[in-house]
Amino acid sequence: MAYVSIPLYKRTIPQRYKLIGLKCKRCGWINFPPKGICKGCKVSSEFEKVKLSGKGTIYSYTVITAAAAPPEFSKQEKSGGSYVVALIELDEGPRIVAQLVNCKPENVRIGMRVESTIRKIYEDEGVVRYGFKFKPVEESLK
Ligand SMILES: [Zn+2]
Repeated sequence: MAYVSIPLYKRTIPQRYKLIGLKCKRCGWINFPPKGICKGCKVSSEFEKVKLSGKGTIYSYTVITAAAAPPEFSKQEKSGGSYVVALIELDEGPRIVAQLVNCKPENVRIGMRVESTIRKIYEDEGVVRYGFKFKPVEESLK
């Protein structure tokens, strides 16, 4: 992969990689990832876009070890060994599943504060896919 500076790379990230939730106009539930029908009231499909902070707390997690990785993570598994997939409760309410980076599996704790970061997820036929991963906020590691 060619080296691209982080600021340049962030500027080129399309809108869809921003953490945008859909706030239900009926009940106020923040839906993320965006869905057709509100997960809160299961009726409304009228939303307004809200930018999410990208900060949250680890609600639960699992350590993925050799041979358990889905195919899109296999290269990463070979290069990095085990890694952590966490269920993260965002400060705005939605819970999402994401890989945790910048943290050894043995240092992960439930309740740890984390923030989103955009990383390469995998590369397929020369196309690099980016998406959200989460990393501990610095004070969680002290
Ligand atoms: Zn709703």
